[in-house]
Amino acid sequence: MNNQINLKEYIREIPDFPKPGILFRDITPLLAEPTAFQEVIDRLTDYYRDKKITAVLAAEARGFIFAAPLALALGARFIPIRKPGKLPFETRAFHYELEYGSDSLEMHTDSIHTDDRVLIVDDLLATGGTISACIELVKHTDAEVVGCAFLIELLFLQARHKMNGCDVFSLIQYD
Ligand code: IMP
Repeated sequence: MNNQINLKEYIREIPDFPKPGILFRDITPLLAEPTAFQEVIDRLTDYYRDKKITAVLAAEARGFIFAAPLALALGARFIPIRKPGKLPFETRAFHYELEYGSDSLEMHTDSIHTDDRVLIVDDLLATGGTISACIELVKHTDAEVVGCAFLIELLFLQARHKMNGCDVFSLIQYD
């Protein structure tokens, strides 16, 4: 495994975005550097290569950026989870609570198979609200959630302990 690139150097910190008091971790410098972006996909592929993943699932929008190339590298299906009204076929909606208010997402009813081994991907793990909702969604289909992968994990929010025992893997951590 190539560990020579310090991925944290490609994350830009933006104070007070989108609201005062929030330090936003901007991943766009990493996406603009092909060697760093490629290393992210390579390291995630190395970690999941032998775990027999059959489907990689991500909620729009930033999760898609990493989930699609990872799905190809693992030889797995990519399953997009989208905001209401965006998916054209028959959908199942799911609602979930966030720190301030609630939100909902949709999946195609034929997208997850009962024998799937699913990997859930997002760019950043904060409170874990979005990912917990995706885990619940997969569990309702009887498929197995093999793990959750993130580029960035905000350790101080301790979300990995609220994932119902799901294996959490991240490449960049902030204390
Ligand atoms: P959570 O549901 O609280 O874990 O929030 C995670 C979601 O919010 C992810 O889908 C991220 O894209 C987004 N998010 C929260 N904070 C940041 C940030 O600092 N940078 C980039 N995305 C963020």
